[in-house]
Amino acid sequence: MVAVADAQDAQGDGRERAGRLSLQEVWPGVYRVPIPIPAPLREVNAYALRGPHGWTLVDTGFHTPEAEARWNQAFHRLGIGPGDVEAVFVTHFHPDHFGAAGWLQQRTGAPVLMHDRELELARRIWRPAAVDGYNAFAARHGVPDELAAPLAQRRARIVSWVDPQPQVTPVREGEELRLGGRRWQVLWTPGHTDGLVVLWQPDEGLLLADDMVLPDISPNISAGPQATPNPLGRYLDSLGQVGRLPARRVLPGHRAPFDDLAGRCRELAEHHRRRLEEVEAIVAAGGPVTAWQVAGQLFGRVMDTLANVEFALGETVAHLDYLVEQGRLAVVEAGDEAAALGGKEDAEPGPRDGSRASVPRLMYEKGR
Ligand SMILES: [Zn+2]
Ligand SMILES: [Zn+2]
Repeated sequence: MVAVADAQDAQGDGRERAGRLSLQEVWPGVYRVPIPIPAPLREVNAYALRGPHGWTLVDTGFHTPEAEARWNQAFHRLGIGPGDVEAVFVTHFHPDHFGAAGWLQQRTGAPVLMHDRELELARRIWRPAAVDGYNAFAARHGVPDELAAPLAQRRARIVSWVDPQPQVTPVREGEELRLGGRRWQVLWTPGHTDGLVVLWQPDEGLLLADDMVLPDISPNISAGPQATPNPLGRYLDSLGQVGRLPARRVLPGHRAPFDDLAGRCRELAEHHRRRLEEVEAIVAAGGPVTAWQVAGQLFGRVMDTLANVEFALGETVAHLDYLVEQGRLAVVEAGDEAAALGGKEDAEPGPRDGSRASVPRLMYEKGR
């Protein structure tokens, strides 16, 4: 890895806002561009791929002033003019990857490429009305009423960070693309999101893995209105598929590049196997319980921000649904009264907010 020379970077109006850009050439002609994000992971890795006729950018950050400033720094350091960007490739619809794509398109005029399945999701999720769908999901899984308004506000704020939205050119699973002077295969590896893809360069064994496989941390696998049922089942299948690629270097969507792809895929599969056992044991000991109650036991300490509440709930429901799919747990619908009787932490009888009164709660119990 080579740190890019930094003679002129001390100036520039973006610097204060963006902090110092640590740009690295992580493979010949491939630069990691960390973009600050208003989320617990703090930074997302975008990549700039240098080609003979221009540059391709992979992933973008949320569209915030800090991200704009960081991109401006990167363009300056790499000598990229607006007309030099040939394409912007977005790996999945999450706001830390997709959010600034529209702004980059306005700035460069480049096409924005994205998997066709993921494009449908992005269109469905990144609009204000989608906030209601999340509220219903949270209520169904026992999230206390007092969190409904703050969670809705958080989601509305995120929608505002995915604006403007780009005109997207859809790409298909298995398609081969020339990006930044290399030939890449588009591999559909769902689970983290339904339409997530990784970019695989077979001649050099180079994988742009985005959030499919991360070092140190486990990618969030969330059930919810943004995913078709049983995302964890799809993710474990994808881990098996990706783990067989003969990779030499993995460039992830967060944190540092790494080499041992197969080993990391095995660790992640093992992590989920253990968590499934943990979830099963919690339900066996306390069921019937809501997902919210299970999340409290699994993640209690870390559910300290609204973002982590969302991640924890989605991740818990993904594990519960996987266990239901396997017949290890069963799910029942209960009115609020029944939920309160079965509940331990939120034994408040009945909803206080009329808009949530009609939502039946889902409770999980041991499979029969
Ligand atoms: Zn993601
Ligand atoms: Zn991400």
